[in-house]
Amino acid sequence: MANEIGFTDHERLVSPMAKSEDFDSESNLRPQRLCDYVGQEKIKENLSIYLEAAKMRGEALDHLLLYGPPGLGKTTLAGIIANEMGVNIRVTSGPAIEKPGDLAALLTNLEEGDVLFIDEIHRLSRQIEEVLYPALEDYALDIIIGKGPSAQSIRINLPKFTLIGATTRAGQLSSPLRDRFGVILKLEMYTHEELAKIISRSADILNIPCEEEGALQLAKCSRGTPRIANRLLKRARDFAQVRGNGIIDEAIAKDALVRMDIDHLGLDSLDRTLLSAIIKMYSGGPVGLETLAAAIGEESVTLEDVCEPYLMQIGFLSRTPRGRIVTNLAYSHLGLANPALNGQQTLDDL
Ligand code: ADP
Repeated sequence: MANEIGFTDHERLVSPMAKSEDFDSESNLRPQRLCDYVGQEKIKENLSIYLEAAKMRGEALDHLLLYGPPGLGKTTLAGIIANEMGVNIRVTSGPAIEKPGDLAALLTNLEEGDVLFIDEIHRLSRQIEEVLYPALEDYALDIIIGKGPSAQSIRINLPKFTLIGATTRAGQLSSPLRDRFGVILKLEMYTHEELAKIISRSADILNIPCEEEGALQLAKCSRGTPRIANRLLKRARDFAQVRGNGIIDEAIAKDALVRMDIDHLGLDSLDRTLLSAIIKMYSGGPVGLETLAAAIGEESVTLEDVCEPYLMQIGFLSRTPRGRIVTNLAYSHLGLANPALNGQQTLDDL
């Protein structure tokens, strides 16, 4: 759905969702080893211990759940885990597994120790979850053959495998499913320095000349998300080639961001529309998500999964039981006065 300024999320440069333009380069840019995976230090530290212990015991790794906003590196991490364990990975997603037979086909094709990666695992149907439970606990599949009184249940043994589930919404996972994961890891948004490192690494791989200051400039506008950082790098290359000497330096990066209508914090017009709608139409909030989505002509899931995590991370928005509220920082950023504030606090005070 397009919002009032005619943007759909798929067209947004700062959308953390994968776009078709990302697919060809993402496979080259994905780090293959844990040591090349930038940031997420705590996760890497624990994971390297789990990996080493599983390898020492010669066992499959415990089932693992990765959660966090899109584009933070969940799929990448799953691939790294399979690489480090020296096993195959099969990649699928919750909505793609429609029938129990689809899951059975995936599971019976696994080899000992393999990784099954299910993206958007919160979207698995209850019926599929039921089939998954014995597979996770007993490495067995219970299949019903026939119908009515003559129906028979047969049990198929499966190889010991590792399920890696990824979700943007851990809260939507049913608790029986969540309880079956031995390890649950939350991915955090990346710092500017980490994103600059990711941009420089990607620039090397893609042979794009990029200066440190240029990388940092793009990093600051990447909303804590590596996928966006890589996308901005590729767009900035176009500007560097056409409007500069091919090198992404600070000036070219800044110019490219202005031309792409992305401000110095990485907000684009959809973010600004969302914030100013809360301010102008609902006096700063609270306003319910559905009401807000309808007011700006956007889908509520887009706002919730794509805009809000970053706006909350930078302290522009808060979620309360009564709805969304914008903070003083958002008023200042948009250059609007907060009538409730009476000049008590400004951006400079914080
Ligand atoms: P998710 O599965 O969480 O949506 P992905 O794993 O597909 O995210 O990551 C998107 C892109 O971002 C990948 O192609 C990869 O190149 C890059 N990326 C993600 N995390 C990292 C990281 N920690 N270090 C380097 N690149 C990363």
